Amino acid sequence: MTDFPLNITRKAIAAFDAYSARGGATGALHLDANESPYAPPPVKGAAGFNRYPEQQPPALRARLADLYGVPADRIMVGRGADEAIEVLLRTFCEEGPEGNKDYILICSPTFGYYETCAQIQGAGIIDVPLKADYTWNNAAILETAKAAKNLKAVFICTPNNPTGTAIEDDLVERLCETLPNTLICVDEAYQEFSGRPSYAPKITQYRNLVVMRTLSKAYALAGVRGGVAIADPAVINIMLKVLPPYPIARPVENAILNALAPAAMATHAARLDEWLAERERMFTELQKSPYIAKVWPSRANFLLIDVLNDDALMRELNRRQVKIRDYRSSTGHMRISIGSPSENTIALEAFGITQDAGPEDRIGEMHRKTKETDISVRVNLDKTTPIKADTGIGFYDHMLEAFAKHSGISLVMSCKGDLEIDAHHTIEDCALALGTALQDALGDKAGAGRFGFVMPMDETQARVAVDLSGRPAMTFKGVFPTDHAGTFPAEMCPHVFESLSQTMGAAIQIEVEGENTHHMIEAVFKGVARALKPAFARNGDEIASTKGVI
Ligand SMILES: *Cc1c(COP(=O)(O)O)cnc(C)c1O
Repeated sequence: MTDFPLNITRKAIAAFDAYSARGGATGALHLDANESPYAPPPVKGAAGFNRYPEQQPPALRARLADLYGVPADRIMVGRGADEAIEVLLRTFCEEGPEGNKDYILICSPTFGYYETCAQIQGAGIIDVPLKADYTWNNAAILETAKAAKNLKAVFICTPNNPTGTAIEDDLVERLCETLPNTLICVDEAYQEFSGRPSYAPKITQYRNLVVMRTLSKAYALAGVRGGVAIADPAVINIMLKVLPPYPIARPVENAILNALAPAAMATHAARLDEWLAERERMFTELQKSPYIAKVWPSRANFLLIDVLNDDALMRELNRRQVKIRDYRSSTGHMRISIGSPSENTIALEAFGITQDAGPEDRIGEMHRKTKETDISVRVNLDKTTPIKADTGIGFYDHMLEAFAKHSGISLVMSCKGDLEIDAHHTIEDCALALGTALQDALGDKAGAGRFGFVMPMDETQARVAVDLSGRPAMTFKGVFPTDHAGTFPAEMCPHVFESLSQTMGAAIQIEVEGENTHHMIEAVFKGVARALKPAFARNGDEIASTKGVI
């Protein structure tokens, strides 16, 4: 069929030309859309709000195309993967005359919204249930799909919600090849947690493959609403006829672009590692619960559990106000999302597992985007790994990593700065952001040692004293013999600690002597770090001040 996907498009949709929405304020004088010429008050941050956005805001489409590794004309950005699913059903499926309706194929138990959208369209549902181990019944799926009439779409959710199982074989490829006039829709809402490659690159190979991705799960944007369908441009263009003219509000576009700023990706990666470690912890610990018969292994950010003795469990969950998804009436299971370490500890208590978990890790995060720099930093005062700095200035990365190591903290820092101008903005802004993240992590400083001193040691010629007093102050005594260490200007060394002191709210006193600029700067970073180590160190929960606040 050369006219794919028109041959499977609803006739009513194929028949009309796309609604022409102008959208996108350009430099032109726009008197064509009855918009207001006034930006709404408050004016700050509201630039462009008086103008209709484009149906597919170009900067957002480009960023998401880059994120998912496909060209921009192959994605449709919508309000979540849900909207992509809905638009797909509305574009291709209809009730039709008696005995001639369109069908979708699903493999239950799976995400319920496929069925809901099909029902809204009056489309029929063919269910080929998963096998007892929740893997796909390939032979039955292929056979049923081949025999089905008017089968417009097969929905494969991998990793599957709610089972957590993922496809590990060539089922998707075989479906694409066997059913050229059916859309093979792969819902990858949980791909980031799966350790499996995405199907997105395969859309160049299969014009009937549609991949759904969402920003709601791994990228923490459920409240913003953002997701995409990825497919051949011919499929995307027909779906764009059905997508409303202005689905993406300007503040939504801004929020997504900020959350997915290139520098923020290091933070997302660090969080994902922690999240996956928590999934392992929950998987192990929940198996010890007296209420649980089985915990299913999962490739997503949730676990499917078979529960025993439900009433007592429900009482415990209610008492602690822990909500988990209850599918007992349909599948006999419950599904629990993996939360933060402290949330998981509370959930475990409801399941009868008390752990001597100790106090919560002190984590601080900071994202800071200006015209000059785009920075993301994440610190954990109670872990020593990971440590990674990527500022574009090799010597500074080395110093920041040494700082983390010697102060005994985990640090993930990423900065995209205007290094083509000079190193100044990047160095200063990273120090400001680091100080803010440390301040955030310290919180009320309960238990923290507060003070630290370092005297000269073999490898350092720096004397340093710090006090996490809440009052910024910095003194620096020392003269560098040369004006650079690598591309790092020596004059920026005191400036780093001035900036750090400002945002961290700490007094830092530094004296350094020596004959080699590189060694002296290194001694200062390590010295401050060593002094901070006892100041950060937590012992009990007392606040180290007679006033009770620092
Ligand atoms: C959560 C979820 C979605 C919905 O994602 P949104 O982008 O928030 O609409 C889609 N598919 C599956 C399988 C999900 O679990």
